[in-house]
Amino acid sequence: MLRNLLKVFCLSLLMSFVPISGVSAADKTTVFVSIVPQKLFVEQIAKDLVDVQVMVEPGANPHIYEPKPAQMAAISKAKIYFAIGVTFEKAWLKKLASANPKMRIVHTEHGIQKMPMAAHHHDEGEDHDKEHHHGTLDPHVWLSPPLVMVQARNILTALQEVDPAHHADYEANYKAFMTMLMDLDGELRGILTGKQGLQFIVFHPAWGYFAHAYGLKQVPIEIEGKEPKPAQLKELIEYARKHQIKVVFVQPQFSTKSAEQVAKEIGGQVAFVDPLAVNWAENLREVATKFKAVLK
Ligand code: ZN
Repeated sequence: MLRNLLKVFCLSLLMSFVPISGVSAADKTTVFVSIVPQKLFVEQIAKDLVDVQVMVEPGANPHIYEPKPAQMAAISKAKIYFAIGVTFEKAWLKKLASANPKMRIVHTEHGIQKMPMAAHHHDEGEDHDKEHHHGTLDPHVWLSPPLVMVQARNILTALQEVDPAHHADYEANYKAFMTMLMDLDGELRGILTGKQGLQFIVFHPAWGYFAHAYGLKQVPIEIEGKEPKPAQLKELIEYARKHQIKVVFVQPQFSTKSAEQVAKEIGGQVAFVDPLAVNWAENLREVATKFKAVLK
């Protein structure tokens, strides 16, 4: 009995020293980010000075995510929450803030001029109307390296303010990250040379800023976050035929049903691009390469 109790005691003592998620937690600053790609942005600037926790778990949809109770508990120990403007934040940021009033909430998208969420393209142009632009701004700012440069600056400032002892470390890491971003930007530009003005169809329009940065045009299937109505789908199919678009992009977090339908109708195919991949830079290279291969 006593031995068992002792065992339990030792075990729990041991457990309390086991670092969460493989990092030696001791004097690290815990920070939260909303989505997976942001983890990389923060880690590039903070290296191992912080422990970065991701709110929207891989595979989950950042438009409708609901934080888990364990995450709410972890929030109480966080020093910074790096928001990025994804939809679930609208419903949750206030609750996260009241769960830990001392936590600083940093809007990393601050300073970015957001575009309206992409809508169906019309050749006619003028009947771009209420049904399409409800004033929803496109939150997918992490998919454009030039916009990530703005976010990096905001991340840097927050880290330096919260942890002034490592001011110079953050600065040096930030500079290296900026160089990496500029190189990546140049590389993507190179891959997509000669493809300017070309269009691609995508189920969920996550690639608007990417398209904008590299001169492409995104044509979404989803409208205002919803599956299109039959008439809208028909219109899109006609548009695709007319412009000889042959590939419909989808992402793992969303249904592919209507994308498959469109692809079938236009005699094309469905291809995957993931806006939330862990290996952010490598993923953008892959996406650019996929676009290059199919855009004609
Ligand atoms: Zn999205």
